[in-house]
Amino acid sequence: MEELHCRTPVSILGHYSRSRLTCPLCSFTTKARYDTRPVSSTWHHLDLGRWQLEIQANLRRIDCPVHRIRVEGVPYARTSSHFTKDFEDLVGWLATTMDKSSLCRLVRIDWDSVGRIIERVMATGLDQRRLDNLFVAGVDEVSWRKGHSYITLVSNHATSKFIWGKEGKDSATLDCFFDELGKERSAEITAISMDMGPAYEKSAKKEHHAINAIICYDPFHVVQLATTALDKVRREIWQEMHKLKDQDTARKFKGARWALLKNPGDLNDDQATTLRKLKRQGGTLWRAYKLKEALREVFTGDLTQEEVSELLDRFCSMAQRSRLKPFVKVGQTIRKRKAGILAAVRLGINNATHEGLNRRVRLIINRAYGFHSANAALGLIMLTLGPIEHVLPHERYQIPDP
Ligand SMILES: [Zn+2]
Repeated sequence: MEELHCRTPVSILGHYSRSRLTCPLCSFTTKARYDTRPVSSTWHHLDLGRWQLEIQANLRRIDCPVHRIRVEGVPYARTSSHFTKDFEDLVGWLATTMDKSSLCRLVRIDWDSVGRIIERVMATGLDQRRLDNLFVAGVDEVSWRKGHSYITLVSNHATSKFIWGKEGKDSATLDCFFDELGKERSAEITAISMDMGPAYEKSAKKEHHAINAIICYDPFHVVQLATTALDKVRREIWQEMHKLKDQDTARKFKGARWALLKNPGDLNDDQATTLRKLKRQGGTLWRAYKLKEALREVFTGDLTQEEVSELLDRFCSMAQRSRLKPFVKVGQTIRKRKAGILAAVRLGINNATHEGLNRRVRLIINRAYGFHSANAALGLIMLTLGPIEHVLPHERYQIPDP
């Protein structure tokens, strides 16, 4: 064995002979075999020292009344996988703690395969009771591959964990969540926070959905309105400069994007310098920045509902007076949705927690860029920020002390 090159897999040919055959997709079992696969099946297992280990077995096929002719399921591997469960569970855990290149080097598979493994671990590994005891929920969307597709995420505000997710961002996407939650548990939700778009609200208000819940607009999404408006103002100015062929100034404004959009406390030295320069120059962009910051500050302190209400009114008149179109629109939206914003404040739907969670999601989404599908990106989010207890192979097969 020592002469084998470590890249050559060492195969273990097993004889898999359970008397009852199991359908890989449901709980159907039978003693009757349909036939035996003419070729043996192979699974990539955990390395044995420097050797890559493969498990081989000749599997039988069964005739399930629902799923028809299928290769029998085995307890040591997930359906349609060429990796053993032990291998996949290890990869699922490593993906949440290790960077991409180190992981691929250690387990000797490419990043796309990691994505496919993550999807399978997510399908079976999440806590079965994750949808129970849900009283205050949060709904959010994240974009994957810069708007190539979107993922809807539902979190439990009490645990700050994501409990559900699916590709898409429309009303029908959230309908799937309520279908899974069921009528009774949906009726138990007392409050649900979301962005101010119409899609999620439409779903939440449907019959058998969150009918008893107060719809809240959490501060995170309110501030996001102003951040988007500020970016619009910046882009308009930049485009004007561009048209006037003032390339130097145009470039400066383009570079100022993060200095303006990030929270002042999160700026690096260069960004802080850029911001100081913008302040000295004053003008439209600085006015827009001050409006964004004014709105953000409404939610940073521990203010009462009445105080927030007063500050929001003040912000809305400021926005109106600014005559900056994007901000005038923000002011109007806030006026219209004020009751929902105040409900979020009253219920203590925490901005910092939400913002922290959102930041972590964005980091995960960046890592998931090379995956083949948004569902794999969702898998990485759920394995990192969802209710899951990663059980490693040696922990599962622990021999009890005599
Ligand atoms: Zn079946």
